[in-house]
Amino acid sequence: MRLTRYFMPVLKEDPKEAQIVSHRLMLRAGMIKQQAAGIYSWLPLGFKVLNNIQRIVHEEQARAGHIAMLMPTLQSADLWRESGRYDDYGEEMLRIKDRHKRDLLYGPTNEEMVTDIFRSHVNSYKDLPLTLYHIQWKFRDEIRPRFGVMRGREFLMKDGYNFDLTRADALHAYNRHLVSYLRSYERMGLQAIPMRADGGPIGGDYTHEFLVLAETGESEVFYDSEITDLKFGDRQIDYDSVEQCQAVLEEFTSRYARTDETHDAALFEAIPEERRRTARGIEVGQIFYFGTKYSEAMGATVVGPDGSRTPVEMGSHGIGVSRLLGAIIEASHDDKGIIWPEGVTPFHVGIVNLKQGDASTDSACEALYREVKALGLDPLYDDRDERAGAKFATMDLIGLPWRITVGPRGLAANKVELTSRRTGQSVEMSPQEAVARLHEIYKPVQDAAL
Ligand code: ATP
Ligand code: MG
Repeated sequence: MRLTRYFMPVLKEDPKEAQIVSHRLMLRAGMIKQQAAGIYSWLPLGFKVLNNIQRIVHEEQARAGHIAMLMPTLQSADLWRESGRYDDYGEEMLRIKDRHKRDLLYGPTNEEMVTDIFRSHVNSYKDLPLTLYHIQWKFRDEIRPRFGVMRGREFLMKDGYNFDLTRADALHAYNRHLVSYLRSYERMGLQAIPMRADGGPIGGDYTHEFLVLAETGESEVFYDSEITDLKFGDRQIDYDSVEQCQAVLEEFTSRYARTDETHDAALFEAIPEERRRTARGIEVGQIFYFGTKYSEAMGATVVGPDGSRTPVEMGSHGIGVSRLLGAIIEASHDDKGIIWPEGVTPFHVGIVNLKQGDASTDSACEALYREVKALGLDPLYDDRDERAGAKFATMDLIGLPWRITVGPRGLAANKVELTSRRTGQSVEMSPQEAVARLHEIYKPVQDAAL
């Protein structure tokens, strides 16, 4: 993309309404525009990152054997009356009446609808296991929408639902989700720690929240510092293997890590003092096993191997797709702006022409632009007629992890500069070397999708 042809309305001044850094930087970088409290337009740069996050989620769900579909945002109130949640959900549910005075709602989640789909089409245990998911806009009429996309009213969520014959199978689905989430967050450049969460009215131990440590997080968290040394990395997991998925769950959940909702002071004190940590965290996902709560209420049964009908075992599993942009920025920025991890960056590299209109720098930039694209990467070429300082400030603000700077003096010696946004380090090299270096940097990111 050429910056002169792009739409990226960056702001010079800090917007007053933003209380936290991610909200401020998303507004300043021209990624979002608020349209009403907790409701945003996704401007091109923000939309690109949102799509990158969705792509990673889709790829990792496919790897785990989960099946993508799409359910609507508007739902019929009658479905929610079957589960009893239409009355229980309270003021967070946006209720709508259509012209025929029928009650609709803007879905805050989809357990009822997916259970309805299941009961309409699945009859036998032979069709199990089955996990269906979608990435769809949700609406929750939060009492205090704030912090930009972190706590919106309209927000994008990946929500998946597993259907299994037995409790053991459903727990395997739970573990499979845990594994796939660990991999997904790491690909986004995040460490998201699974923490034992509150089972709420359903009870039980089978729910974990994934938290990204950040000072601005809304949850208070308590953990054993050893947990932050764990990395999922690029290990190959057979998602059908009960043992392998169980082993990952045990590895990542056996150390103390809880939110204030489930915190147990006595257990926490049992950790050696130097490893005890209290911090704040952002919830970027949650997985849940809830058994037959919805299948019993809504008559979602299958014929088992013995010929009798049993309610299907279920769980639900969510990722806060739009919230993740805020969480990533909270975890990765400096005083100049955002620092995107390579896995989600809106453009892979910024090309800065220090002397726009100069025949040699222009043609060197055009050549770099073409060669970077030929690698399957997406460059942003700053072809504005602007001072170097202004171009650098824009690149730093929008946080592209790599920048190639092309100036007449360097070019005379066949040199450009490759700069890392994270370290600020610049290295001089030939344009060909810069392209080769980008190829090396992004190869693992491209391979992670395979
Ligand atoms: P919270 O406790 O933060 O209100 P939740 O526990 O009610 O969230 P879930 O039902 O677990 O949310 O939804 C799955 C994921 O969706 C959450 O982990 C979070 O990342 C995201 N999410 C929930 N509410 C919002 C919101 N208002 N704005 C943006 N993302 C949200
Ligand atoms: Mg939650």
